[in-house]
Amino acid sequence: MSASFHAVRGSFFDLLDDPWKYPGREALAARFVPDGLLIIAEGKIVDFGSFTEVSNRHSQVPVTHLPGRLILPGFIDGHIHFPQTRVLGAYGHQLLDWLQNWIIPEEMRYADRTYAQEAARHFFDDLLAGGVTTCQAFTTSSPVSTEEFFAEAARRGMRTIAGLTGIDRHAPAEYCISPQDFYRETKRLIATYHKQGRHLYAITPRFAVGCTHEMMAVCTQLKREHPDCHINTHISENPTEVRLAQAEYPDCHDYTAVYEKYGLLGPRFTAGHGVWLSNSEFRRFAQTGAAICFCPLSNLFLGSGLFRLGRATDPEQRVRLAIGSDIGGGNAFTPIRVLEEAYKVGMCNNTMLDGSVNACEHDAAEAERNKLNAYRGFYLATLGGAHALYLDDKLGNFSIGKEADFVALDWLAGQHAMAWRQSQVCGPEGPATVDQAASLLFGVMACGDDRNVAETWVNGRRAYQKLPTI
Ligand SMILES: [Zn+2]
Repeated sequence: MSASFHAVRGSFFDLLDDPWKYPGREALAARFVPDGLLIIAEGKIVDFGSFTEVSNRHSQVPVTHLPGRLILPGFIDGHIHFPQTRVLGAYGHQLLDWLQNWIIPEEMRYADRTYAQEAARHFFDDLLAGGVTTCQAFTTSSPVSTEEFFAEAARRGMRTIAGLTGIDRHAPAEYCISPQDFYRETKRLIATYHKQGRHLYAITPRFAVGCTHEMMAVCTQLKREHPDCHINTHISENPTEVRLAQAEYPDCHDYTAVYEKYGLLGPRFTAGHGVWLSNSEFRRFAQTGAAICFCPLSNLFLGSGLFRLGRATDPEQRVRLAIGSDIGGGNAFTPIRVLEEAYKVGMCNNTMLDGSVNACEHDAAEAERNKLNAYRGFYLATLGGAHALYLDDKLGNFSIGKEADFVALDWLAGQHAMAWRQSQVCGPEGPATVDQAASLLFGVMACGDDRNVAETWVNGRRAYQKLPTI
């Protein structure tokens, strides 16, 4: 047996399929191994199953035992802004004022390499402490920020997607980048980083409102020249922004039509938010294989609106969906908090569907799809996010051959009330069934935060361990 093999023993929970396919029977999409063994070699999962069965095949492998933990695939944040780490939780204002007053001035500091390096250390520390092992990130219009993002990601061994951010209007001149410079720098950064180690590159027009026709045309050209790169952007976050998009692109009948016009909508395209998308726009996302990143922390923090989760998960036009913190519009790094807010958005949507506000659209099936139980929630944070980003061949669950990124959750940690709340599900020996595991996980999702993240493992190695509380 090669010395590079090692193993982790514990209780494992992952998703093998989309739980929205099994309404009321979501456990069919999940796998729970109460006493499991994960064998890792060179950062990849090489064997997985019950301890009894797998340990017979790997009797000499050193084992790390994680009792009292639920081990899940590493969380995936599909939409986060690296240069907004320090301004999370900025007071007041809706999207466009908030961008001008808080965000652009902070992002301009990332042209300074020393500042960007320090920020990158904080950013990745905060991600790992929240259980995030993969993110798709915005940087700034300065290549320095993209370079320092990838340098720190490489030091941590993390799989990440990022790219230089293109913006050439509705921002101060010193923050804008010309389409020519954006094209040249993006080409250089793709050549340096794309598919190097675990890096992937996203061509990143910040949002259509902030991009002229020339900038969007450059993105079309870059996508044609680099079809295996991702596209990362925003769409329909806020009603004022939607109106502005229509004013800037009068020949496009809706916001999605702008990205269609420039040939960007399709596989490996992700747009954050999509709060105000019409049914027709959801359908076009579904048909082209484009993804939406649902960012409920941010949507509530900035008062942007309620994402129609039940509409996006319509089996007739199922949209690829990830979840994102949207730091710093979102005010917490961990997907545990994102799921809590996602649950609440679903609940509020159902009040809209059932009440007088939107009664004409009452649809019992859509209301059911708005309900975010633990199976659906942790699917979005793991395999669903991987599927949205076209990474489900590499990430998202414990299937053999995938990359060994995972998180060990302490279901008793967090607020003082948690331990007694969880004790109604099972004793300290831990869950014995998939339903008990899901009940504990719902407790984590509804009442927890990054204190529930005991350990985060990246590429088969422990990258974060919570300090014991005294
Ligand atoms: Zn964003």
